[in-house]
Amino acid sequence: MVEVHKVSGAAFDGNVYLVLDERPILVDAGMMAGPTLKNIKKYIDPTKIEMIILTHCHHDHSGAAPAIKEATGAKILLSDKEVGCVGDDLTTVAYLFGQEAPEYKVDGLLTEGMVIDLGKWKLDVMETPGHSQGSICLYEKSEKILFSGDTVFPDGNIGRTDMYGGDTSALVGSVERLTKLDVKTMYPGHMEITSKDVDRQIQMSLRFAKSVL
Ligand SMILES: [Zn+2]
Repeated sequence: MVEVHKVSGAAFDGNVYLVLDERPILVDAGMMAGPTLKNIKKYIDPTKIEMIILTHCHHDHSGAAPAIKEATGAKILLSDKEVGCVGDDLTTVAYLFGQEAPEYKVDGLLTEGMVIDLGKWKLDVMETPGHSQGSICLYEKSEKILFSGDTVFPDGNIGRTDMYGGDTSALVGSVERLTKLDVKTMYPGHMEITSKDVDRQIQMSLRFAKSVL
C-alpha cells in the first residue's frame, strides 16, 4: 500500500508530503529543510527519495528544495511556467517571509497531461493557474487522491490571488476543473488532509472563487 505522510515540521511552512511508493517522492519542500528531513527519517532513508515535485514556486513550498536536494539527491520538478521565478524574491514571494529566494537548478519540467509513474500510483499533472501562473495539482485516478497545492484548501477555501501572477478568473477555471474529478482524499498545500465529502468541499471552493470574481 502506498503511504503518504505529512513531514513538514516548521510553523508557517507549506505542507510537505512524503509519498512512499516504489519510487518515493516529496510533494513540495517547504522552506525549512532541517525539521522536514528529521521527519522524513522517521519513515525512510532520505537518499531513497527520487523526486521533489513542486506544486508552485512560492517560497513556503520551494525554499527548502535545494537543501533537501543536496541531502537526498532527489531531482526537482517545477512547472515550465515557473522556472523563471527561481531565485527571484518577488515572484516566489520570499520577501513575505523576510527571506531570500535560493537559486537552484530545476531538473525536470511539469506540463499539463504529464503522468508521473511512482510504481503503484500514477500522478496526472494538471495545470491549475490562478494562485500563481504555473500552479499545478496532482491527481491519482485509481485511488482518487488529489494533491491540491495552493489552488483549493479544505472547507471551501481557495488560494489567494493577490500576489504576483495571481489571477482570480483563471483560478475559477482551475477549481471548476477540479470539481469534475472524483476526490476521496485531498492533500492541500496548507491546512489539514481531508477525506470527508471532498467533492462537496471543492464545490464550495468553486462557489467561493466565483463570489470573489
Ligand atoms: Zn502559494
